[in-house]
Amino acid sequence: MEITESRAQTVGGMQVRRALPRRGRRTIGAWCFADHMGPAEVTDQAEADIGPHPHMGLQTVTWLTAGQILHRDSLGSEQLIAPGQLNLMTAGHGVAHSEETSAAGPYRGPLNGLQLWIAQPEATRHGPPAFEHHAELPKAEYRGAAATVLVGEFDGQRSPARHDTPLVGVEVDLHDTATLPLRPDFEYGLVVLHGAVATVDQHLTPGHLGFLGRDNHELTLRPLGRAGVVLLGGAPSAEQPLMWWNFVGRTRAEIDQAYTSWLGDDGRFGPVAGPLSRIVTGPPWWW
Ligand code: MN
Repeated sequence: MEITESRAQTVGGMQVRRALPRRGRRTIGAWCFADHMGPAEVTDQAEADIGPHPHMGLQTVTWLTAGQILHRDSLGSEQLIAPGQLNLMTAGHGVAHSEETSAAGPYRGPLNGLQLWIAQPEATRHGPPAFEHHAELPKAEYRGAAATVLVGEFDGQRSPARHDTPLVGVEVDLHDTATLPLRPDFEYGLVVLHGAVATVDQHLTPGHLGFLGRDNHELTLRPLGRAGVVLLGGAPSAEQPLMWWNFVGRTRAEIDQAYTSWLGDDGRFGPVAGPLSRIVTGPPWWW
């Protein structure tokens, strides 16, 4: 397992640890972004509000093990997400959304989870936006662990969430050593949400990405105490996406157009209801 250290970032007033993309490790299959939010306390001083902002060419996957977040988007969706549930937004040609902890209750307490992005393939990335919420997800049980299938299929259990390329995302709650089946045609990455896990000769803790290349048939993990990890896998992609800010494209011209549309509020992304202000950023570095 190749272990890289995540990078500390501030997103919406909250510290996150960015496991993807990193120098030398940009993608895992079509997974192109992974922020570990928390574990943190949402307080009056530290809210995790992220105002309306645009996306293009990607799917956002939100998964919490603690806390709650209110999602609102330009499709009119308004969805509170709680632990064990999945929010999946497909941006396609363009969508905007906000994520709020202040409006969700208001919620105060622990927050822990992941926000992931999946790069959309050519076939769907110019298509319409969409939003899904899944309150129930299939589980695979093992002697030392329970695995919840967020996206894709794992050990015969299939998530109802949409996916446009061959990939998988699974949360594994470990209370004892467990051996998980892997697909040899997939590459995999591992992010620890809480606790720590050990492989044969390595330890993995929160704030790191463990990368496994292809040609593995199984993975044995030993939790040190109790641990929660997310395993991301997918078929290695020949197509490397171009990522800038909240956009995934293939050319700078596409990114430039999306940025200009958001700045000019020309209707491509649409409005998001709610109390938060739109987020804007400076132009692409190549301007
Ligand atoms: Mn977003």
